[in-house]
Amino acid sequence: MSGGTTTRSEALFERARRVTPGGVNSPVRAFGAVGGTPRFIASAQGPYLTDSDGNEYVDLICSWGPMILGHRHPAVVEAVTGALERGTSFGAPSTGEVELAEEIVDRVAPVEQVRLVSSGTEATMSAIRLARGFTGRGKIVKFAGCYHGHVDALLASAGSGLATFALPDTPGVTGAQASDTIVLPYNDLAAVEKVFAEIGDEIAAVITEAAPGNMGAVPPLPGFNAGLKEITARHGTLFISDEVMTGFRASRAGWYGRDGVAPDLLTFGKVMGGGFPAAAFGGRADVMAHLAPAGPVYQAGTLSGNPVATAAGLATLRHSTAEVYERLDHVSGTIGREVSAALTKEGVAHRLQYSGTMFSVFFTEDEVVDFDGVRATESYRYRPFFHELLRRGVYLPPSPFEAWFVSASHDDTAIGRVVEALPAAAAAAAAAKP
Ligand SMILES: *Cc1c(COP(=O)(O)O)cnc(C)c1O
Repeated sequence: MSGGTTTRSEALFERARRVTPGGVNSPVRAFGAVGGTPRFIASAQGPYLTDSDGNEYVDLICSWGPMILGHRHPAVVEAVTGALERGTSFGAPSTGEVELAEEIVDRVAPVEQVRLVSSGTEATMSAIRLARGFTGRGKIVKFAGCYHGHVDALLASAGSGLATFALPDTPGVTGAQASDTIVLPYNDLAAVEKVFAEIGDEIAAVITEAAPGNMGAVPPLPGFNAGLKEITARHGTLFISDEVMTGFRASRAGWYGRDGVAPDLLTFGKVMGGGFPAAAFGGRADVMAHLAPAGPVYQAGTLSGNPVATAAGLATLRHSTAEVYERLDHVSGTIGREVSAALTKEGVAHRLQYSGTMFSVFFTEDEVVDFDGVRATESYRYRPFFHELLRRGVYLPPSPFEAWFVSASHDDTAIGRVVEALPAAAAAAAAAKP
């Protein structure tokens, strides 16, 4: 169980900070938004994580999505072990790449062709280059609060209001890199219409999270994605749906499987790598035909289609059956209801929101439909809520603005542990002061 000592994690964090900026290899892991010592994880099994001090947690991050079957699923372990025995990287095409591409094409109808890469960032970066190469246009529209990896041009999410020409969010991204990016409020079709009326023929692509999870779960309002498709089609602009998080998680065919709106290009990652670095972008064959070596738009990768990663991804997808998606719906629905019941009991205003089977809690009375709405919530309540759960063996995302993820391995015992921990967490959220 947890609630125990964190001596080893503290020592590791101190060592890590000496040799790694901030002590972590991806910022959210440092617990900056919630404070305290990040837990260094020693092992994982099914729905559980065990840290270096031996504390066990019900995992509600699932590696930010990939572990849809739970940790160390036997079929994935077997596929990876088998691949290791055949060789770890060839620098030449191999069978697994074909099978993984076929599996993706088979699942997601708008994907006629797909290119494998190693991270979601690479997938969105390459999709945007391809969109610019295909259309011969420069500008990109993205939405505030949507995250598409750390692509220079997409790190511009600042600026609310209509048609804000983006300023970079981070030093190291120049005004020039961000200046072709237009940031609009999420779920606001009127803002999209307005920009397209002005400069529609300069816009190469609109990129959106299919159902956002990176500002917490803020699903598209009915008709939003369909509206994007209609507007982009009318202006010869490509519609890129970023399904790195929702892909193969929201349903067998990702978010597309739920709303049926066919994008021109889609990006994937997380689940399709089965816990290894594998990602992809794909879509219309006539657009994908512009990609090297079939066409002129350059894109490449030494480890793209890596045989171990593709084996893990293929095994994960092949075992992500209808029963798995039913279980994800059940687990996320049950935990969400229990969170809501505990908070209601303590009189804490909140909204549970779902982007498919990802979900999160916002401390507010109002439905949250965009990034301004996210920022207006009482997010100071999250920190004590998070720490009470962590102390009781439940590992939530260490930020109020991230989605929660479950796996098919979350059985009733794991759910029960979450339910037991909730009353204390809800009380702490109620007592929180800004
Ligand atoms: C995680 C994520 C990315 C970036 O993927 P990485 O593998 O971390 O580079 C891109 N888009 C979305 C929607 C994501 O959730």
